[in-house]
Amino acid sequence: MTPSDLPTTALPDGTRVPVLGQGTWNMGDDPRRRADEILALQTGLDLGLTLLDTAEMYGDGNSEELVGEAIRGRRDEVFLVSKVLPDHATRRGTVEACHASLRRLGADHLDLYLLHWRGRVPLAETVEALEGLRQSGDIRAWGVSNFDPGDLRELAGVPGGEHVATNQVLYNLTRRGTEFDLLPAAQARGLPVMAYSPVEQGRLAGNAALRAVAARHGVSDLQVALAWVLRQPGVIAIPKSGRAAHVRENRAALDLKLTGDDLSDLDAAFAPPHRAQDLEML
Ligand code: NAP
Repeated sequence: MTPSDLPTTALPDGTRVPVLGQGTWNMGDDPRRRADEILALQTGLDLGLTLLDTAEMYGDGNSEELVGEAIRGRRDEVFLVSKVLPDHATRRGTVEACHASLRRLGADHLDLYLLHWRGRVPLAETVEALEGLRQSGDIRAWGVSNFDPGDLRELAGVPGGEHVATNQVLYNLTRRGTEFDLLPAAQARGLPVMAYSPVEQGRLAGNAALRAVAARHGVSDLQVALAWVLRQPGVIAIPKSGRAAHVRENRAALDLKLTGDDLSDLDAAFAPPHRAQDLEML
C-alpha cells in the first residue's frame, strides 16, 4: 500500500484527508528527544500520516516549531492543523495568533485552524475572524474543538458558522460519551470528528480486554484501541508518538479489522453510553 492509498474522509468542502494523522502535544519540549520526535513525524509522513495536529498552546509554540522543522521541504505533502487559544480568539487576536503560528511552522497557510475550546470571546467574533483568515488565504478551513452539542447548535446560529469543517473531541474506549449524540449527529451532517487522545495517552496499554483481542490478532493492545476508534466512518484519529516504531504500529492499526466478537468483548469491558453525558476534555 502506498501512502496515497491511505483511507480518507471528506471535509464538508470536499477536501479529502487521511483518517489517521499525528498529534504533537508534548513534543518539542525536550531537546534530548528532538531528533527522535522529528524522525517519528517524518516516518509518519512517509507512511501517509500526513495530517499533523498541533497548537499554539503546545509547549508555548515549541511543538509548532518542531513540526516546522519536520516538514521543511515537504509542506506540500502535509495537511497542517493548528489551534488558537480561546483567550486569543478575538477579532484581532485570532489573526495575530494565526500569523505567529505560521511563522513558527515556516508555512504560508494552515489547512485547518481550530478554536481550541470555548472561552469568553463571543463565538460570532471568533467566527468573523476565522472567516477573514479564510478569505485572506492564511487558512484553508476552520473548525472547533471540545464543542458539545449545545455549543455546535449555538455555532450554527452565528453568521458563517455553517463553514465549520470539524469538531476535535476526546474519543477513545474509555471516553465513549460522544457516541450517544455528538458522533451520530456529526456523521448525519457530514461533519468529520477528529478523535484526540485515541489511546487515552497510553493509559489503555495493559487493559485485559484489549489484551485478549490483541492476542487473537497478533497485535498490540494499543493497536486494537486505535483500530476501534478508526472503525467509525467520518472519524479521524490523531495519536501522538515521538517514536518511529510506535508510528509504524499506529499505521498498521489501520489494516486491523475488528470482528463482531471483538467489538462485543470491548463493549462488555467499556460500556457504550445509554444517555447524554457531559463532554469530557483533557
Ligand atoms: P494519545 O495520542 O492518546 O497518546 C499519546 C501517548 O501514547 C504517548 O505517550 C505515546 O508515547 C503513546 N503511544 C502512542 N502510540 C503508541 C504505540 N503504538 N505504542 C505505545 N505507546 C504509544 O494522547 P494525546 O497526545 O493526548 O492525543 C493525541 C493528540 O491529540 C495530541 O498530541 C494533540 O495533538 C491532540 N489533542 C488535542 C486536544 C484538544 O483539546 N483539542 C487535547 C488533547 C490532545 P510515545 O510518544 O512514547 O510513543
